[in-house]
Amino acid sequence: MAKQLTIGLILPDVLGTYGDDGNALVLRQRARMRGLDAEIRPFLLTDDITDDCDVYTLGGGEDTAQILAAERLTSSPGLQRAADRGTPILAICAGLQVLGHSFNAGGREVKGISLLDATTTPLSSRAIGEVITTPQAPLTAPLTGFENHMGGTVLGPDAQPLGRVTRGVGNLDGTAEGVVQGSVIATYMHGPVLARNPELADLLLARALGVDPAELTPLELDVVDELRAERLK
Ligand code: GLN
Repeated sequence: MAKQLTIGLILPDVLGTYGDDGNALVLRQRARMRGLDAEIRPFLLTDDITDDCDVYTLGGGEDTAQILAAERLTSSPGLQRAADRGTPILAICAGLQVLGHSFNAGGREVKGISLLDATTTPLSSRAIGEVITTPQAPLTAPLTGFENHMGGTVLGPDAQPLGRVTRGVGNLDGTAEGVVQGSVIATYMHGPVLARNPELADLLLARALGVDPAELTPLELDVVDELRAERLK
């Protein structure tokens, strides 16, 4: 197993509105608790996005900020190169939308980077509240998060939902939630989602390290169990 881990945090200056930078902190902390040397490398709007990190995270953001993110990911395509070689990527909400084909912002349709076969258009009303899903394999535990989005996302044939909604709206209409395609896992769940869902955090960590999740030392964190019990009530 690699002893070092570099976590790429994509555009926290424009995709940092909803606290999703916490996902990078959770990955770093869970790696360090296993004795690994982990660091977060932020890529700001003015930085070149390089393809040499072990895992990447992108957070949610406001509509206008998300246009800037889509433009920067297009002009500095390191994330696309990383995805091509199978590097795990976690994208949240606006992050999910910019990785798709297109979304609406600033009163127009904006092109995404098409890492995901997903298209986003406005919902009739904003989706806000707790969301719970039953995930697809290899995940087994219910996923919990908080959604807050105006965009609704339809998946094409190359993308699969991350889970089936048991509470909340999810991508569009209370059925599917999130997107899985290649090495990308995307979701509308804030929380941050990795703080609320340790199984998902360890799946990403294991993939970043090139091992099976069962090879990671189990972590007993009562506070995470308490948080989940409260949110899954
Ligand atoms: N601006 C997007 C929307 O409203 C994403 C919001 C978010 O990232 N929470 O759909």
